[in-house]
Amino acid sequence: MAKTIKQVLDKDIVATLESYPELQLIANNKLNGKFTIKDNEGVIQGEFDIGIIIPSKYPNEFPKLYELSKKIPRDIDRHIDKNGLACVEIEQNISIESKKGITIKHFIEKYVHRYFCWQLRYDAKDFEGLEEWAHYDKGTIQFYKEKLALDDLNIIALILKSLIENTLPGRNEMCLCPSGIKYKLCHERLVDEIQTLGKMQFEKDLKVILDTLKNIHVILP
Ligand SMILES: [Zn+2]
Repeated sequence: MAKTIKQVLDKDIVATLESYPELQLIANNKLNGKFTIKDNEGVIQGEFDIGIIIPSKYPNEFPKLYELSKKIPRDIDRHIDKNGLACVEIEQNISIESKKGITIKHFIEKYVHRYFCWQLRYDAKDFEGLEEWAHYDKGTIQFYKEKLALDDLNIIALILKSLIENTLPGRNEMCLCPSGIKYKLCHERLVDEIQTLGKMQFEKDLKVILDTLKNIHVILP
């Protein structure tokens, strides 16, 4: 018999509390407690009071992370808002991962951990090689450049247009990028990985990219 979502969630919560005994379930959709970052030798590098809200569309929605100890300045550059709501990932990745489904345990292991490691390095001014994740329009551009392994916004715009209009090349046709090789050997796999974002997101993102291109042309002599 297939497991119900409730059963999956209950199991997920048990596994989460086992891995993170400093967290507690304080309401049926809320975990609270301490989150500790340790180095390889087990020495504590940082401790934060956190709250995690289990989403109503679990597991197809990202949990929310709140930093409650106010150890992180409420500053947009620190990826946190004035209520302590943390921004752990850019919206397009959240959308893709949500559709695949995300457990609370995985959310903490990957996103919460990475978020606080990043904050500790920021506090220590250890910026060398520190990964930045951009917000809003800059985040959108960064996302497509990385996901499609392309730098040219014109080509990215072309791919988005093809996604919106269902005019992607056939597998044996030439790719939309200037590689000169067949689509199936070039961008097919990368494009497949972002397909689940859906038309509405592509339309919104294409607008951002076209606006950016317009502004670049204005700056050029
Ligand atoms: Zn290509």
